[in-house]
Amino acid sequence: MSAADGDTGLLEGLIQQNLLNEELLGQLGDHAERLPDLEQLRQLLRMELLAEEALLPLLSERYGLPLLAESTASLSPFPEAGRCREVYAQTGIVLMGDEQARIGVLTVQADWLAMNRLELELEPGSPIQWRLTSHARLSWLVAAMAHPQRSQDASALEAAAPKLQSLLEEAVHHRSSDIHLESVPEGVQVRFRVDGILQPGPLLPKSLQPSLFSHIKLLAGMDIAIRRRPQDGHAAYHSRSGREFDLRVSSMPGINGEKLVLRLLDQMPVQHRLEALGFLKQDMEALEQASQAAHGLILMVGPTGSGKTTTLYAILNALNSSERHIFTIENPVEYQVSGITQVSVNPEQGLSFAEALRASLRQDPDVILVGEIRDEETAEVAVKAALTGHLVLSTLHSGDAVTAVQRLLNLGIARDLLADTLTLIVSQRLVRKLCPHKEENPDCPRCQGTGYAGRIPVYELLRVNRLVRDRIRAGYTGRELVEPHKDLHFQTMEQTAQRLVQEQLTNWREVRPLLLAT
Ligand SMILES: [Zn+2]
Repeated sequence: MSAADGDTGLLEGLIQQNLLNEELLGQLGDHAERLPDLEQLRQLLRMELLAEEALLPLLSERYGLPLLAESTASLSPFPEAGRCREVYAQTGIVLMGDEQARIGVLTVQADWLAMNRLELELEPGSPIQWRLTSHARLSWLVAAMAHPQRSQDASALEAAAPKLQSLLEEAVHHRSSDIHLESVPEGVQVRFRVDGILQPGPLLPKSLQPSLFSHIKLLAGMDIAIRRRPQDGHAAYHSRSGREFDLRVSSMPGINGEKLVLRLLDQMPVQHRLEALGFLKQDMEALEQASQAAHGLILMVGPTGSGKTTTLYAILNALNSSERHIFTIENPVEYQVSGITQVSVNPEQGLSFAEALRASLRQDPDVILVGEIRDEETAEVAVKAALTGHLVLSTLHSGDAVTAVQRLLNLGIARDLLADTLTLIVSQRLVRKLCPHKEENPDCPRCQGTGYAGRIPVYELLRVNRLVRDRIRAGYTGRELVEPHKDLHFQTMEQTAQRLVQEQLTNWREVRPLLLAT
């Protein structure tokens, strides 16, 4: 094999074997030509332009690094888990084995120069046998290393990894937000939630269930021994297309066995732009005006899954600049955004919303997002923060804008205080957006023939201006707060729905259930 002999360059060898071509190399740009071959190859892999698995046999031969065997069931971290994690973090190399046989596992991307150093460091003892493997396989080893007591099931678990990846890729491809894996007598029924509606997926064989479920739970840092109690966990997922997701996994015991739900949270902040969300023009202005103010309380209300957090993050993204200190306090943090301070609260472990909020106020913030106001203490601190020169954004579980005011009063906030701080209330739901395709087309790539692609908010928006403030102070409750008046800026859900249907963004079938429910 010519690629293995020393006279042929690595890249040249790959080209001869049709594993690489000039066009792909060109994607690296001119500056890359001066880099060593191996470094160019690493860049191509990072850009996901090459399939790593296909290259491994050639690299193995060329560099005299045998491939890692299929089964690693008998391996455990060596010399000890803590040191192993440290080595992995520094070099990308995983050390495994025991006193007799030590194995160092590395990928193309690892720090190969560290091989010598580790050999010296781990002497005396038998020399390290180096093994080459793929990034995916190494990630699995690292996950298993974090849960060494489970490694006896290792090879079965490895079979589940490609299945999980194909499910995740399918979900990403169809813009699915959740994957449901349900134990049924015939096997595991997969369903994908797309634009808010569950769509049937494949029925997986029963034999795959134990390893697939264990693999998912391991990745998400959950205890695979627990099957009869609900659990949750999370993991990062990098899709083939280069997008990053936070994978939220929850498990639930069902009568036919466990049920897992995997939620895919897109970490790409660019999607969270206000203009892209679909608010009508005059309402966008109200949102912008309230969010540009130096202080005040902006509330998003609606049930779980109504897009409240997405809208709040769109506001945060618009405000995010080096001149503003932005804090988010959530349970847990939903989207990671650079440039802002994010705190995950965990009431079970003793850090409550109210406590984190009070601590954040000592750090001189300009804008604070409080994930949810649901108790008197949080309500009180949030309102005080809004009163003392901070812009506070939060959510509330309530049916509409008017009941949100009542909720805060019920949580013990004084009328005057509320009137002085509240600036805007948006109550929103999501409906499916019509696919812009013109004719009936079952093969439409955007909607797969369903006729819908993406979702838009249908919302009610109340601007708390002088008129509404006076009404709150005067003790108006319920619909009295929004009695028609020339100064009232109140866009009802029905009005929004009408506009969206008129503009053919959605249809009555989608909005009618919402209007009937409110
Ligand atoms: Zn379509």
